Amino acid sequence: MDCRPEWSPSVTEPVNFQLNADVIARQSDAPIRVVYVMGAGRSGSTVLDTILNNHEDVIGVGELVHLFIEGSAAKENCSCGEARDTCEIWSSVRERWAELTGLSSITEHERLMTKFTRVQRLAIPEWHRLRAGNPDPDFAECLKQTHATYQAIADATGKRVIIESSKNPLRAKLLCLTPGLDVRLVHLVRDARGVAWSRMKPFAKSKEGGVPQDIRPKPIHISAGYWLFMNFLSEQVRKAFPNQPSTRIHYEDFVSNPAQTLKEIGEVAGLDYSTVANRLLAGDPMAPGHLYAGNRVRTAGPIKLRSDMAWAEKLTPGQKRLTWLLAGYKLRQYGYERQPATESPEANAVDNSIRNAA
Ligand SMILES: [Zn+2]
Repeated sequence: MDCRPEWSPSVTEPVNFQLNADVIARQSDAPIRVVYVMGAGRSGSTVLDTILNNHEDVIGVGELVHLFIEGSAAKENCSCGEARDTCEIWSSVRERWAELTGLSSITEHERLMTKFTRVQRLAIPEWHRLRAGNPDPDFAECLKQTHATYQAIADATGKRVIIESSKNPLRAKLLCLTPGLDVRLVHLVRDARGVAWSRMKPFAKSKEGGVPQDIRPKPIHISAGYWLFMNFLSEQVRKAFPNQPSTRIHYEDFVSNPAQTLKEIGEVAGLDYSTVANRLLAGDPMAPGHLYAGNRVRTAGPIKLRSDMAWAEKLTPGQKRLTWLLAGYKLRQYGYERQPATESPEANAVDNSIRNAA
């Protein structure tokens, strides 16, 4: 059943993969391509987004979901170092979005996004109504405002291929149903034990450091459940939209063989990432662009792309056993081993720095 609402932009033909960005930009009626990275948080999506952003035809936007919400997320900095309202890109995007939607405030959009994409409640009544062919009256307006978001980015940047790493699978589902968007899905997986270890580390609030509020450590069993849930939802979205180009990649593969992973993503995105891969392997600076929100590494200057197996040394044997007990069946499906090859946290470090390009 086609669940798309009656509203749709003027043209919905697929983009020709062979066109370069300049040609695509001139085809203002063509669908805007969104390469959406989904999965659990702390899986390395900000590093991946930073590198993907270095293709000349794309704009990487980070966790775009935070751009249209108030509260603590409004205090997030862009990777350029500016706040949301002073970054030249994001202030232009917000201005253009207001023109396109006729809305002077983001309050209504925030309400709709919460209603349809809040993972904690799964938007069960709203999505059930859609499946039953009786969509919530707000749904068409939500899609219209969502399309305006990407149209505003395309208008403000001149790019019609957008890399987003909001990670929320329900947002991916919403984008797949939004007329005028050509969505490509990248399911990013990292070892649950690495995710759990990352979530065990507390961070103090630091605006300059990219931490808008204090982050408290999460118990390991909660992280295991979170990891299972987010990866399950990501798998479900890929199954629900078999016609959308998609792939599943693993963060560990990305850091050990970035060229291969970039090739796989490029095939899904319809982009040739070989130049970026060669630059990365040569140690060229990777421009951080204007990633909004996301991991603090986006504002931390030079960083190393590395396997980060610190969890193997830092987690206690009991913590590893508990994670494997809860999530081992899925880890095994994904090809992870209960006893990974022993290596130091610095092993397999790929000597590529991502530096703030001037
Ligand atoms: Zn910026």
